Parts: sequence; C-alpha cells; structure tokens
Amino acid sequence: MRDNGSTSTGTRMIALVGNPNSGKTTVFNALTGLRQKVANYPGVTVERHVGTVRLADGVDCLVLDLPGTYSLRASSPVEAIAVDVMLGRAAHTPPPDLIVCVVDAGNLERNLFLVSQIIDNRLPVVLALNMVDVAREHGVVVNTHRLEKELGIPVVPMVATTGVGLDELRRAMAATPALSPRAREWTLPEPVHRELEELTGMLVGSGKFSEAAAFNEAIDLLTSHPSALEQTDRFDPAILDHVRIDHQKLDFLGFDRESVAATARYAWIRQVVARSIDRVAHPGISRTDRLDRILTHRVWGLVVFLLLMALMFQSIFSWATAPMELIAEGFDALGRGVSGLMPPGPLHDLIINGAIAGVAAVVMFLPQIMFLFFFLTLLEDTGYMARAAYVMDRLMGRVGLPGKAFIPLLSSFACAIPGIMSARTIERERDRVATMLIAPLMSCSARLPVYTLLIAAFIPSTTILGVLSLPALTMFGLYLFGVVVALAIAWVVKRTLLRSPKTELLLELPPYKLPSLKSILLTMWERAVVFLKQAGTIILGASIIMWFLVSYPALENATPSQQIEHSFAGRAGKFVEPAIEPLGFNWKIGIGLISSLFQREVFVSTMGTIYNLQNAEGGGSSSLASRMREDVDPLTGRPTFTLPIALAVLVYYVLAMQCLSTVAIMRRETNGWKWPAIQFATMTGLAYAAAFIVYRVGTAMGGS
Ligand code: GDP
Ligand code: MG
Repeated sequence: MRDNGSTSTGTRMIALVGNPNSGKTTVFNALTGLRQKVANYPGVTVERHVGTVRLADGVDCLVLDLPGTYSLRASSPVEAIAVDVMLGRAAHTPPPDLIVCVVDAGNLERNLFLVSQIIDNRLPVVLALNMVDVAREHGVVVNTHRLEKELGIPVVPMVATTGVGLDELRRAMAATPALSPRAREWTLPEPVHRELEELTGMLVGSGKFSEAAAFNEAIDLLTSHPSALEQTDRFDPAILDHVRIDHQKLDFLGFDRESVAATARYAWIRQVVARSIDRVAHPGISRTDRLDRILTHRVWGLVVFLLLMALMFQSIFSWATAPMELIAEGFDALGRGVSGLMPPGPLHDLIINGAIAGVAAVVMFLPQIMFLFFFLTLLEDTGYMARAAYVMDRLMGRVGLPGKAFIPLLSSFACAIPGIMSARTIERERDRVATMLIAPLMSCSARLPVYTLLIAAFIPSTTILGVLSLPALTMFGLYLFGVVVALAIAWVVKRTLLRSPKTELLLELPPYKLPSLKSILLTMWERAVVFLKQAGTIILGASIIMWFLVSYPALENATPSQQIEHSFAGRAGKFVEPAIEPLGFNWKIGIGLISSLFQREVFVSTMGTIYNLQNAEGGGSSSLASRMREDVDPLTGRPTFTLPIALAVLVYYVLAMQCLSTVAIMRRETNGWKWPAIQFATMTGLAYAAAFIVYRVGTAMGGS
C-alpha cells in the first residue's frame, strides 16, 4: 500500500518523464525555479537534476527531471536510467510516488506510447499535456476531458514556456491520483494473448513481480530479440527456456513477433487520439515548413549555419569585453586592497601573486563562457539545432559519420565531457567510438581563456571589410581549425580502424519555438556556478602551488625573472625546453604547457602568476596581455612571444589533449585504455606537428 505516497525519507518524490523534447526540463524549471541541484547518477555520468516544488497543498516534494525516453524498453544506457527509476528498479532512487508524464500535444500518437505503458504498469501518473500552443498553431486542439476519460488518468493542458497550466499541474500533483483499476484496452491477436497470459502467470508465480509488472515483463520477453534473452539475468532459466519455445511457436505461426505488441498498442492509441482531438484544420504550408525550406537547403542552409556561427563568435568576443574588464578591475582593486592590509612577506606574495592573480586570470572569462552557453542554449531551444544537424548530415556522411554525431560534437564546444557522454545515443559502436575520438577537438570553453588571452595580446584589433574584427575572425578560425582536423581524423579512422557502412539519418525536425528566457538564464546560471566552483577550487589550488613552484627555492638578491628561472617551475620549464624549442617555445611557455597538462585554462592562471611576479620588476600595473607582449629574455634579448610563437601556442591548444577528465571519461565510455591512448597520442602528436609548421612558416614569412 502507498501511505499517501510517502517514501522512507518522508518526502514525496515525483518523477518527470516523457519523450525527448516534450518539455520536461522546461516544466521542471517552471516548477522548481532556482530550487534545484545537479549531480550525477551513481556510476554513470548522466546528470541528475533534482529540485523542490511546493504543491497546492503546501507540501514540499522532490522533483526529478529524468532523461527522455520513448518507451519502457530502454534502447540506450541513458534511457535505461529513466526506465529503471520509473519502474522502481533503480538502486539509487526510491520508486517515485507519482509520475508526471510530459507529453507534446502536437505529437500525441507517438507520445502516448510511453503513457500507455505507464498505465499498463499501474503506476500513479498525471499527464502534463504540454505545448498546446504549438499544437493549436498546427490546427490540433485536444479535448482534455475526453482524453482523461479515454486514458483514465488526470490530464493537465499547459504551455510550460509561459507558465500556463502550471497551477493546475501543481494541484493535480497534490491530489495523488487514485489508481482506477481499468482493464487494458488494447488487444493482441488471440494466440499471442494466450502465451502472454501463461507467461504472466509464471512470472507472478515466481514471486518476483506484481501482476501489472509481470504482464509488462511478459510482453517484453515475448517480443524481444532472441539475443536479448542471453543478456538478462533477471529471470529464472526455466522461464527463459519457456520464452524461447514461445518465440518458436509464434514465429512459426507467422506473427511479426517483435512488433506485434507495438502495433496493437498503436492501433488503440490511434483510436484514443481520434476521439480526443476536436478539430484538425489544415493550416497549409506552415511557417515551420517555409523556414525549413531555407534552413535545410543544400546551399543556403550551410550559408546560414556558417553566418550564425560567425555571428556567435563575433558577439561572444565583443559583448563580453566590458564585463570582462569590470571583473579584471574588480580583482585589481581586491589585490590592492588586500595588499594594503598586509605587511610584505611570503604570505602577502602568496595571496596577491599566487591566489588572486591566478584566479583572476581565469575568472575574467566568465562572461564569455556565459555568452557561449547563452547562444548554444538559444540555438537548441528554438529548434534550430536539429536543422543544423540536418544540414551537417551531408558533411558528416562524407567522412563516414552519422548525422546524429553532430549533436555530441556540438555540445563538445561547451565541454567534451557531456559531448562524449551524449555520443551514447549513437547506435553503432564504431560510429560512437569515432565520434568520441574527435569530440575533444571541438574547442571547448576551457580553451576560450587561452585563445582570448593570446589573441588579445598578439592579434591587432582591426576590422576587415568594415564589420568583421580580426580578433573575432582569428577566434572563429581556431574553432574551424579544430573542426577541420576532427573531420579529417574521422575520415581516416572510418576508413581504417572503424570501418562500417553508412547509416541513414533518422532525425525529427521539431517545430520552431520561441525560446524561454527562463530556461536559458537557468542554464547560464548553472554553468556559471560550475565554472566559479572550479575557479574557487582547482584553479585556486593550482595557482597557489604554482606560486610556490616559481618562488622556491628562493634566490638571494635576484631580480624576479632570475628568481623564476631559478625556481622549481623554472627548472621544469628548462628541462622540457629542448623538446619544445623547435616550436619556438622557451622555458616559460614550457611551464605553462606542463602546468596545464590536466586542465587547459591553468595555462592562463600560470601566466598570470609568472607575469605578476615578474611585474614587480618593472613596476606599473599593465595588463597580463601587454606584459606577455613585452617580455624579453634579459640575456639574449629574444622575446618570449612573437606573433608566430603565439599562433603556434594557439594551434597547439586547439589540438592537444590537455584534459585529464576527458581521458578519464574516454576510458570509462570505451571500457579500456586503448582508445584514450590512441586519442592522446594522436592529438598531442598533431598539436606538436601543427605548432611546428605554424612557427616555421610564420617565421619564414617574416613575422618575428
Ligand atoms: P525536454 O527534452 O523534454 O527536457 O524538453 P525541453 O524542456 O528542453 O524543451 C524543448 C523545447 O521546447 C525548448 O526549446 C522549450 O523552450 C520548448 N517548450 C517547452 N514547452 C513548451 C511549450 O509549452 N510551448 C512552446 N511553444 N515551447 C515549449
Ligand atoms: Mg531535458
């Protein structure tokens, strides 16, 4: 019995489920606002979003935003999480007290498939009939009351983006719905039905399943591919043997066994939908179709895509300047303030030159990172991303990757970790590995600080053709370079190590939508918190360690630059100098390369620490960029950075695998060291070669 749905912890738990893109996250955000937390499911790196909602009865409940799924038979590890939680099979999450199934009103038939399975499992469920605005635009008006009657569950029409229906949803969630003991209304062909009854009986008899659960397990077993029976350990061998015989019988009788249940279910759903839709007008060619003609056009689609990307980088670059300067000034003021409060000495230096300078150098880039996420979320939420994937499919196909690979690659522009994880949606193992292999070549947000610092220091801020700024263009070029190299690698591996035939593009183009500002702002906020947390922990720690490594062992009566050279870090830099000299890199850049081996943006904080120490020499409070520009070796008189050297460093960071987390996630996702090793070696080798070429060619062309 459910005692008013309370779990062992006493707090009711509500799970949000539904097809991908039905609006779960929007509903979740609307319900919980800022009262939410992101963590990972244990063992897998799928983000687990939990929030708190106050229901109409004044009780606080936990809400869980589950990954999207089309049915209760999971076809990917991510979907499996949603299914396991719903069915109460997950070890980490108690069975939900209520399921809120978010349904896209414009795609009722497909969405009701999952709903009907939930109903068959007798799970307490409320249907959030979302996107009624879009449906209406397409001439579809759902009669909510009739749908409630047909399904036997509460239905709440809503528009999650504007908050319409939210109060009603809260009310429906408070009144835990009574489970109406309704008979299943879709029917199977008689012989299938007979086997199903028999198998259900056996499963109930085994004592492990309730009647409803047993029935659904039985359907799954009867309609599964024979190989699925080998892989499961949830059933007794005797039952599996029985199922094998059933398979043979039904196959012999000529049933399309694996789809027989889905077909029957859909037949019923079609009736339900036909009875519940009031008016279906034909709106002619919709706005969506008209837009798609251009945006998915062979040529124009690509042109628009490239223009949008260029615009995105242009604005990330220019809009972020003012807030970035503000942050820099803030940290300067903080440094001066703290400096005034403390007597000179090692602790003073540690705090000013180590901690504050290092963290400031990285936190500066918060605005750019937030703008990047603003654009990525905007493209995703308007529905444009799917078009971009469509446009890119032709390109991806040419290098042997499926169009679906585009999505993991695109999210890798934010960070390779979620990118690599979202490759799980790619069915074929070889395509999946190839995609993961090239994902870290997409310039992630950790590279942004490195790019910006070097560009600001060495690329003159002139404009070309009156509108495009050279720095923004350079930035765009770096991103493009990563993409081109990635595609080239994909082309090679898909013809050698990972050869496989091409897959068809199965991509649904969702209707265009007005994005919800709230969702976008929440995403930006979430990323800002993650970024600042990192700055406050890893970067802070690295900066302090770096300060020690450049300050000790101390050299008496030395200038700051002699001191750095004499230090542990300086010695390490000197040690690797012979190896990187062919690239034009001296030992100072060597320190940056070593310190950022595990995390790219540490390069920037390291430069911040080194040049802040050194700045004491010349006095003045010039920017890090200008200090780097002016730095010369006191002995040889050679500058540390020239334009070719700066470009070589940039190219190096585009290609090199300076990220420990990516190596770790690759190991986990591919179950071994083979692919991460190949990836690391390839990327580092290419980075070295490319930096070498850029430096040599650049110097030969007279840029010194
Ligand atoms: P999820 O994949 O189920 O989490 O779906 P999301 O919550 O990310 O929503 C997908 C897209 O649909 C986003 O762009 C939302 O802004 C948009 N969206 C969600 N609900 C509605 C709605 O009721 N009306 C409209 N017009 N758009 C919506
Ligand atoms: Mg979502």
